[in-house]
Amino acid sequence: MKGRSIAFFLAAVLCLCGAAGCAGEGEPQTHRHEIFYVEERRPTCTEAGMEGYWICRICGATFSDEGGKEPCEPEAFPAEGHDFFREALKAATCEEAGRIRLVCTKCDYEEEETDPAKGHIWGPWLTTRAPSCLEAGEETRFCANCREQETHSIPASGQHKFGTDNVCTACAFVCEPTPGLSYAPVTGEDGNLAGYAVSLGTAEASQVVVAPYYEGEPVIAVAEKGFCDCNGIKTFTSYALLVRIGAEAFRGCTGLRAVELADSVEEVGEMAFYACSKVVSLRLGSGTERIASNAFYGLQALESITVSEENLAYSGEGNCLVERKSGKLILGCGSSVIPDGVREICDYAFHNNCLISCVEVPSSVVRIGTSAFDGCKELTSFTYLGTAEEWERVEKGARWRDYAPFGEVRFGA
Ligand SMILES: [Zn+2]
Ligand SMILES: [Zn+2]
Ligand SMILES: [Zn+2]
Ligand SMILES: [Zn+2]
Repeated sequence: MKGRSIAFFLAAVLCLCGAAGCAGEGEPQTHRHEIFYVEERRPTCTEAGMEGYWICRICGATFSDEGGKEPCEPEAFPAEGHDFFREALKAATCEEAGRIRLVCTKCDYEEEETDPAKGHIWGPWLTTRAPSCLEAGEETRFCANCREQETHSIPASGQHKFGTDNVCTACAFVCEPTPGLSYAPVTGEDGNLAGYAVSLGTAEASQVVVAPYYEGEPVIAVAEKGFCDCNGIKTFTSYALLVRIGAEAFRGCTGLRAVELADSVEEVGEMAFYACSKVVSLRLGSGTERIASNAFYGLQALESITVSEENLAYSGEGNCLVERKSGKLILGCGSSVIPDGVREICDYAFHNNCLISCVEVPSSVVRIGTSAFDGCKELTSFTYLGTAEEWERVEKGARWRDYAPFGEVRFGA
């Protein structure tokens, strides 16, 4: 069939045999085929092709021969698809996608596609500033492709590791104690020297710093009355792992604004912070096990109470200092919300607090101690979250509400 120059070659052929595809399967042919030639169509990138064949314009039967003797199914050639040449229009970077033009080498079709961003290839983290004990450090890593960098902070350990010379072995910080402080030996249960208890001595600073060691031995306590009535002291910073705050240690220190006890402190003695009338915030660490009932009497400006979550003996829930085992509320402050479950509001718990204005006492409370709300001069609303009958049965200490201006106790949840 090659070389034919006419598209339609007509012929009239009478089929005598009833060939398949002619006038219906198996039926004898009733017409004379009128055959013409359909030229071969080569496939393109996107369209299928077909080999050349002969076809009857009347019945549509197809043949491989001009005479209509050889019925056939002309062979289809599938579309060949484009053959692309890829040309980068914009190179992909680590963070931005690129663009590529696809040009078909066979036809003039072209399209564009995105080349996805490659993503950084990060090198290892490099320490660019080592953390010190109290200050975070920094580490950085670089992308091998684009030099992009990322920076993290490396957390500080949070505390120095002092040698007995008061020099930190980790960061070389030298702790200089306030000159003039006095140190008294503390004898341990075994009769040997356990460490020293610090007191003011002849020191005159308003910002007292206590170093961890004195003459090579640890400073473990603030001596009884150690800083009593030192109202010039504004801050007291201890690098020593104090275990005990002695009786009346800071009594009457009216320059102190905050009391923050480290996790190492186990015991707070009688009236240790008595009448520290300017203290606004009190924070206890995890280790405190024994607090004298009057240790914090007279903190009349106290606004907040916080206790380490890890403290097993005391909780600071609701800005109240509560002994967990007994359910006794030892100390309240201006923002106290008395937690349900408290059994007793201890003697002097809110005494003279000049901030508290509204109290709701849960019905779990069975006793309100002596002078518990005495002198709370802003306390204008007092509600007992139970019935009047239950309130009658609550034990009330002497002067429990003297000078507190709220009128009648209100009832109900
Ligand atoms: Zn026909
Ligand atoms: Zn193409
Ligand atoms: Zn990169
Ligand atoms: Zn250090």
